[in-house]
Amino acid sequence: MSGRPKALIIGGGIAGPVTAIFLKKAGIDAELFEAWPYSTGIGGGLQIAPNGMHVLAEIGLADEMIRRGSVAESFDFHSQSGARLGSINQNMRQRFGQPAVNMCRATLSEALINKAWCENVELRFEKRLVTIEDRADKPVVVHFADGSSAEGDFVIGADGVHSAVRAHVIPDGPKPFDTGLIGFGGFVPHAVLDGRAISRHVETTFGQSGFFGYGYCSPDPKDGVMWWSTQPAHGMDAAMFRALDQQTLKQHLRGFHHGWHDPIPAIIEAAENIVVTDTLDVATLPIWSRKRSLLIGDAAHATSPHAGQGASLALEDAMRLARLMQEGQDLTAIFQAFEAERRPRAEKIVAMARRNGNSKREFSATGAFIRNQMMKWLLPLGSKSMDFMYAYDARAV
Ligand SMILES: Cc1cc2nc3c(=O)[nH]c(=O)nc-3n(C[C@H](O)[C@H](O)[C@H](O)COP(=O)(O)OP(=O)(O)OC[C@H]3O[C@@H](n4cnc5c(N)ncnc54)[C@H](O)[C@@H]3O)c2cc1C
Repeated sequence: MSGRPKALIIGGGIAGPVTAIFLKKAGIDAELFEAWPYSTGIGGGLQIAPNGMHVLAEIGLADEMIRRGSVAESFDFHSQSGARLGSINQNMRQRFGQPAVNMCRATLSEALINKAWCENVELRFEKRLVTIEDRADKPVVVHFADGSSAEGDFVIGADGVHSAVRAHVIPDGPKPFDTGLIGFGGFVPHAVLDGRAISRHVETTFGQSGFFGYGYCSPDPKDGVMWWSTQPAHGMDAAMFRALDQQTLKQHLRGFHHGWHDPIPAIIEAAENIVVTDTLDVATLPIWSRKRSLLIGDAAHATSPHAGQGASLALEDAMRLARLMQEGQDLTAIFQAFEAERRPRAEKIVAMARRNGNSKREFSATGAFIRNQMMKWLLPLGSKSMDFMYAYDARAV
């Protein structure tokens, strides 16, 4: 690279804008391409763990996200009838320097895109990457579905679990793995939880089959509670559920969670705009880069949501990549160093999330009873074994 290098970043989710912000700060130009039009209202709720919050703090967004989200004071577990099984993730701020924060994905996305704009990142929407042309002694060229193209010095594939950049880096490579669980989620008003002493805890329930969770995610009384239901897919996929109307989806949830403890039925009754997602992951890829293209975030190591870490890993990737680029080695060495550093941590977490998902599958009545008894004993140990995720601080590596 000679002169001021330029990154072509594919994907405007989480890893993409944050990488662009850090690269700009490191003196590297960044042009970002997102397949969809600009929008401020897409997606359900999510939690950013302390390790991700450190990265948001570094770009000056941690306080804003705490203000616009809701600090999660613990993760509490219950059985289907409401018996308490245990609690993890307490005192996160004291233990790890940042709290875990629930937020709307749309709020996070809006903040990241605004920040990227402020850092003079060139943002292009409705630019769906189709192919990458990488010929020696020429700039790398990215081609879009609308027939346009752009040139730069290297490509960062931050285009998520169905990454088109991955198809360029590893043609005929592994496809995302369907873990056999399906997710439903959305928001309900604060009023649904009024009078219940859940405080700022995230409340979760393990049923005989499936799982339900809810917690505050914003100060907005209209839709400031996020909820999600995870269920065995039984041969259905998200597209099949999305083809159903909202009333039919609600009826399905009523049936599935019939008899579950309060306030789960009330949350389902209040639910609107229910979002359905497949539960996919990418356990391991043979390589993360080829020539001048590198994969980061879900494109490199998509994780199922059962460890609550995918977004935080994407944030960590963005910051570590920019730090390595700042050190100024040649591109191949940087990409190799990035993969060597990030792969063990990311793949360990993807595997852990997949294991966590197993406890949300279908059990016999006896199996569910045994699982619940084991959870009571194992939660304190399990909690300690997760500290490595939260204790990581990308600023201190
Ligand atoms: C239901 C659910 C709940 C989750 N909950 C949590 C949670 O609580 N905590 C957590 O940390 N993680 C959670 N995750 C995981 C988290 O959402 C992801 O790990 C995270 O979004 C990854 O960020 P990313 O930037 O790599 O990819 P994404 O956020 O998926 O962004 C990829 C972007 O690339 C764009 N794109 C795709 N293809 C193209 C193309 N060809 N050209 C241009 N642009 C393209 C997409 O439109 C998208 O904007 C959850 C995931 C799911 C599905």
